[in-house]
Amino acid sequence: MTHYDLHCHSTASDGALSPETLVERAIQQGVDVLALTDHDGTEGIIAATQAAADTPLTLVPGVEISVSWYSQTIHIIGLNIDINNVALQSGLAALRHYRQQRAEEIARRLAKAGIEGALEGASQYASKTMLGRMHFAQFLMEKGYASDTKDVFKRFLVRGKPGYVPGQWTDLTSAVEWIVGAGGQAVIAHPLRYKLSATKLRRLIDDFKMAGGQGIEVSSGPQHPEQIHNIASLAKRYDLLASCGSDFHSPEQRWTELGRFLPLPASCTPVWSVWQ
Ligand code: AMP
Ligand code: MN
Ligand code: MN
Ligand code: MN
Repeated sequence: MTHYDLHCHSTASDGALSPETLVERAIQQGVDVLALTDHDGTEGIIAATQAAADTPLTLVPGVEISVSWYSQTIHIIGLNIDINNVALQSGLAALRHYRQQRAEEIARRLAKAGIEGALEGASQYASKTMLGRMHFAQFLMEKGYASDTKDVFKRFLVRGKPGYVPGQWTDLTSAVEWIVGAGGQAVIAHPLRYKLSATKLRRLIDDFKMAGGQGIEVSSGPQHPEQIHNIASLAKRYDLLASCGSDFHSPEQRWTELGRFLPLPASCTPVWSVWQ
């Protein structure tokens, strides 16, 4: 059976592995089809595609777009996108520009809390184009403020904490339109991670479908079978295609691994059922 992992990150965003090493690891883990879905950029796609050439692995060009929806940050995955699409790339460029400004604000807030040099420190862990909270987490761990990623986020980088800046990303409709306009499929990433009420989640799905969205991540990384069952029934009720992916970032995060997540329930129609 073909093994699909349609969500992971490289050094082109906040992943620890280069696109080449990621492809190598995916093959070792038994993945047949891998989508590279870096946050707000596609810089790693060419290297990953080249690394996958002459291997059994199929590389799907993807992206994970940051969206603000009713003051919530929501992630929308684009699969099989044309990375040369101009509207998509100018949208992503604007998001990365905002990331840079947000990073400066995060650093200012950390400085007020007595932590100096965070912008320069975080930048050392990041690519030239994409600066994220994970890079601040790495800087804070280096300085001994926390010992693991989850801890550092909880203490410094989430709502109510010194380094938190409310996200002002793109709107849901634009993100979906960029993806669809670039020939791709839009998928709601890790729907349970936003902790939305059932009503709010249904509203998100309605807005998403109205914009042209087609899929939802039914299986993503460490989850209980019951959670997968619940999203699978949502997918069925709302006629959404089902996607799955590890959201792998780093070998040091022991709770995720490329290709490792529960299989999609038989009731699901997988996103790849409509691929050529
Ligand atoms: P950003 O898009 O820069 O705001 O950063 C979001 C990223 O931070 C996510 O994609 C994860 O990689 C990481 N992240 C967010 N929350 C946590 C957490 N509690 N523990 C570990 N990583 C997290
Ligand atoms: Mn991330
Ligand atoms: Mn995400
Ligand atoms: Mn992700």
